[in-house]
Amino acid sequence: MAELHQLSTQQIIDGLANKQFSSVELTTHFLNRIEKLDSQVNSFITVTGKQALAQAEEADKLRAGGDTRQLLGVPMAHKDIFCTKGVLTTAGSKILHNFLSPYDATVVNKVNNEGMISLGKLNMDEFAMGSDNSSSYYGGVHNPWNLERVPGGSSGGSAAAVAAGFVPMATGTDTGGSIRQPASFCGLTGIKPTYGRVSRFGMIAYASSFDQAGSFGKSALDCAYLLQAMAGHDKNDATSIKRDVPDYVQALKDAESIQGDKPYNGLRIGVAKEYFGAGLNSEVEKTTRDALAKLEELGATIVEVNITDPKTTLATYYMLAPAEASSNLSRFDGVRFGYRCEDPKDLTDLYTRSRSEGFGAEVQRRILMGTYALSAGYFDAYYVKAQKVRRMIAADFAKAFESCDLIVSPTAPTTAYAFDANLDPATMYLGDVYTIGVNLAGLPALSLPAGFDNDGMPVGLQLIGNHWQEAKLLETAHLFQQHTDYHTKLSDIANG
Ligand code: GLN
Repeated sequence: MAELHQLSTQQIIDGLANKQFSSVELTTHFLNRIEKLDSQVNSFITVTGKQALAQAEEADKLRAGGDTRQLLGVPMAHKDIFCTKGVLTTAGSKILHNFLSPYDATVVNKVNNEGMISLGKLNMDEFAMGSDNSSSYYGGVHNPWNLERVPGGSSGGSAAAVAAGFVPMATGTDTGGSIRQPASFCGLTGIKPTYGRVSRFGMIAYASSFDQAGSFGKSALDCAYLLQAMAGHDKNDATSIKRDVPDYVQALKDAESIQGDKPYNGLRIGVAKEYFGAGLNSEVEKTTRDALAKLEELGATIVEVNITDPKTTLATYYMLAPAEASSNLSRFDGVRFGYRCEDPKDLTDLYTRSRSEGFGAEVQRRILMGTYALSAGYFDAYYVKAQKVRRMIAADFAKAFESCDLIVSPTAPTTAYAFDANLDPATMYLGDVYTIGVNLAGLPALSLPAGFDNDGMPVGLQLIGNHWQEAKLLETAHLFQQHTDYHTKLSDIANG
């Protein structure tokens, strides 16, 4: 039999319900693995072992007393961008190296309310800015498929922890691809829901009009279970939307009953040539085209659509996201919480040195770019112009969705690259070229494993849906996973 960390979420849920193992046994197993192996991966910033075991004991008692919540006693972990009461919350930054949040983020509360066990806080790019986890103050994260490679970012700790078999599921956030791209690099499924589906309350802000939380798992069904727990309106977040949350898990189970060899009959898949331009690695392209052929073989129809040129999208994102970041990050001033420089001479020195010493290079670069774009002389030329382009990007997606149900593309132009690649910023930004359009338009999208390159590194496939089509995305991915086995392959670390 597979070891506990190799089980799917469904197997864990069934195993707990049938008393094959207890939550304490499960939690202990995962904590032991983290202790033994995470020094190689560096996926956790904080492990909350004692608290997790206490929660697991409580979960076992509740279950024995007849509590039938499905996720009761199931372990998970949070990206270190979600505030956790009394537990260190760093956002991957030195400036928050000592920050104990006085409250829990709504996502954390909701997951707790389902009885899930949080094993700790996961490493990430500083303030979620980055695509390979190299900007974390707490050190880079290594890809469990090959420790010499990056796991992607900014939710690289979340992806690596799931791929290493340290947790069955994890939360992440996606401002421009930070769930989908690490899912792709680490051979996982990861979903970024529609903007407004999940509360941002207590989630440290990078670019507020883009940021959205979502879930990572080995499969679409794993993601559905965790997203179900996270989603829903929250009066504490004015941008969260009052709209019923469908039963994602049930939708996937219903999809399984579609009989015959053409389960995708009637599904129109949009393919845009803009996603296959220069810079796309040939092995990633081949994998994507093979996956499209598989979808067609299973009954889907391919239609050609057009979206905004990804280069325009990239430029728009890297104007607007830093602008929002520069405003959001002004609260870290060395006065109220977080890092404060030694012996400031006066108030200006306190602000300047606390921020210069507390923020890393990438964060400072974005604050500079964003402040510039928002400054009086350049506001109209850059910020306002980019806002107008943002509307056009959303309109182009809306038009594409008139003739298709989903758009399929590569998630990223490459697979995971070398840990010591030290990419210059512009090259790193190019890696986001296929994911950021979705955030500019507020759309849902997911990445799922679609194959491997010649070095055995996972290749992800992106599915993009129209607003509120999370269930459709998850169902489509789930059906694909009924007919392929890429998502069942484990990294060396998870195999061991
Ligand atoms: N890589 C992108 C950036 O650096 C996206 C990050 C994210 O989604 N948080 O901004």
